[in-house]
Order: sequence, then C-alpha cells, then structure tokens
Amino acid sequence: MGLSGGIGSGKSTVSARLAELGAVVIDADRIAREVVEPDTPALAEITARFGPGVLTPDGALDRPALGAVVFGDPAARADLEAITHPRIFARTVELRDAALDDAVVVHDIPLLVELDRAADYALTVIVDVPEEIRLRRLVDLRGMDEDEARRRIAAQADDDQRRRAADVLLPNTGSVEDLHEAVDRLWRERLVPFETGLRSGRPSRRPEVLTLVEPDPSWPAQAARLCDRLRGALGEAAVRTDHIGSTSIPALRAKDVLDLQVVVPDVGILDDTAVRRELSRRGLLVVDRADGQGWWDHAHGEGTAPGGTWEKGFVATADPARIVHVHVRQQDSPAWRLALIFRDWLRAVPQERDAYARLKDDSVRAGLSSTEHASAKEPWFAQAFPRAEEWASRTGWTPGS
Ligand code: ADP
Repeated sequence: MGLSGGIGSGKSTVSARLAELGAVVIDADRIAREVVEPDTPALAEITARFGPGVLTPDGALDRPALGAVVFGDPAARADLEAITHPRIFARTVELRDAALDDAVVVHDIPLLVELDRAADYALTVIVDVPEEIRLRRLVDLRGMDEDEARRRIAAQADDDQRRRAADVLLPNTGSVEDLHEAVDRLWRERLVPFETGLRSGRPSRRPEVLTLVEPDPSWPAQAARLCDRLRGALGEAAVRTDHIGSTSIPALRAKDVLDLQVVVPDVGILDDTAVRRELSRRGLLVVDRADGQGWWDHAHGEGTAPGGTWEKGFVATADPARIVHVHVRQQDSPAWRLALIFRDWLRAVPQERDAYARLKDDSVRAGLSSTEHASAKEPWFAQAFPRAEEWASRTGWTPGS
C-alpha cells in the first residue's frame, strides 16, 4: 500500500497506527536520511560534487546548505538525485523483500503524487485535509513558522491532484480518535482481506445478485489507475489498455464492476511467474479456470468475425471493495477491437445505449442473477454487434491510441 498526504495531513499518525496494527511500514523520509549519513558512499559523492561547503563541522550533511545549492538549479538537483535516488530505491526494495509473505507492507512516501507513483501499489491511500487546517496544525501543534509552513505546502502537489491519485481517501478533519477508527476499519475491512486474497490467489468476485448503480463519476479515473497498474506489471507486453464495458459508457446505470481490456502479443505471458508477481504487487491476480480449459471469447452473431473462438486471459483484483474484470486479449484476436467498437458505438448512439439500459433493467425486474443476466444478454448482443460493426464502417471508426 502506498500512503501519502500533504505535509501536516496526519500521514505519520496514520502510519504509526498501521504499524501498531501489524503493518510493515517503510518510511521514505527515514531512508532518504539514512542513505546520506556520515561515512556513506552517497555522502562522499555529494561532497565530491558539491564541495565541503555542504557539510557541517562534524561531517554530517548540512541540509539547508545543500538545499541552497540545488534550489533553482535543475542540473545540480538532477546530479543530487542521481546520487541519492538509486540508493533510496534499492534500500526500499530491500526492506520490501525482507517482509514476510503475509505482511501488509505500507510505503509511507510524502512525494507519492509528485513522483506519480500511485500505480506502483495495490492500493494508494491519501490522508485528506484541507490546506488551511494543515497549516493551523503545523503552526499550532508542530511549532512551525507560518511562512515556512506555507512555503512547504505550496511546494507540494495540491489537494485535488492528491485526491485524483487516491484509491482511498482518509479524511482527517475530526479528532485523532476518529482517524484511528477509520484506519482500524480500513485495516480490518480492506487491507487484511486484500492481502489474504492475494496470497491465497482468491480474487474478489462479482456478487451473484444483480444490482445496478447510478454511474459513478470516478469510474474513469479508477479505470485509468488500474490500466497504469497493468502497464506497470506487463511492461512492453501491454500493447494497449482500455476501460471497456458498461462503466465506460457515460450515463449508463451498471453493475459496480470495472471492465478493463489489455491487448498483448501472446496471452501465454500470464503463465510467467515474474509477471504474476508484478501483477500481485499491484493487487492483481491471474484467474485460472477451475476446469483448466482456459477462457475464450465467442463471436457474437454473424458478420462479426469468421466464426470460432479466441483464447483470452482473465485478471481480477483481490480488493474486496473494488471488483475488476480484466480481459486480456491477444493482438491477433478480433475480440479486442469488437469490445472497443461496442463501447464507442454505445457512447455515440444514445438510442442504442438506452436500449441496452432497458435490457439491464428487464433483467433486474425479472430477478435474474448476474450469470443469468449475462446469458439473457446474448440474443441482444447477437443482433447488436452487426449494428455496431455497420456503424463502425460507416463512420470510419478506428481504435485510436
Ligand atoms: P504529516 O506526517 O502528514 O506531516 P502528522 O501526522 O505529523 O502529519 O500530523 C501533523 C500534526 O497534526 C501532528 O502534530 C499531529 O499530532 C496532529 N494531528 C494529526 N491528526 C490530527 C487530528 N485529527 N486532530 C488534531 N491534530 C492532529
């Protein structure tokens, strides 16, 4: 889990509570200090590059002096980061890998959003407090000079940027007890079952009871973050990632299940142990079919494809609070293109979107389960796909980037 928040938000208060609950906390600030302690290779390199003026009389790093040197000098700053960042990274990985298999590892990192790292974690948690309250707490409780506090706040990402990066927002405008209670609940209801699910290879399943919800305006951002995670895990093998399915269509009531698609040269990549580990670090699990038969896309209706089926892969999260279905499709399968045409067609043609919405409502009214609803949709799909294909060729549709 990645943990961040603006200065004075209560991030340290949250990580201390998580440590009490049993999390392994990796403190990025502490590592950043450790790698430049006296007698470290990094401090020697810094002194060689910036001169003895950045040391205190007793040989420690003089942070204000170094700060003054690199402030407003991007080249100097880049040189400094080239010395420190690889060491910070290596130590972070070392601590992460030293954690036991069943540990919930929390990376407490103030610059998570500034460094754009939200997709490195299975879950990104942001402690959320309006700037003015943070300012008051820094001045009143931590005794910081007000101008200094304002400067530090201004140098960081703003609250909106942080909110956009968050899978979970922990508001901290109430009491410390309120905050502890929220952390305890997060631990109990989300982190612990998430970790257990990942370790035992048990993905979160969509509920069998078919429930439609109003469109959630945060669905696209959630999908984008999950796509980032897929690309982080799959690297070059992810030819493209997309948000597909009902939650990708504005103004459509849908099951609260995010459908994503990733196109890969070969779905066999999902059998790779290293790939599975990278996915798992980001909260994602390859789902093997219990009968060992693999997953398949079927052609919907005539005229959509030369018939037959195409093997696919299936990835899901173990996050109990966010059901995700990732359809992993091979580049040479027509199925991925079809999924994009269907999405873009429903986005472009409101009458068709509304017809699809009625079909969903009918299934709810008839009391169908999610599985029964999936089957009930098939005849409609068989007719809808040719219409979507026709729309695609008429409008000169292309899959875009
Ligand atoms: P950060 O690590 O994000 O900079 P801290 O956890 O150090 O923030 O919190 C900043 C200050 O505010 C600390 O003095 C902390 O004890 C205090 N604090 C944290 N949460 C609350 C709260 N809910 N009410 C009052 N004070 C709080």
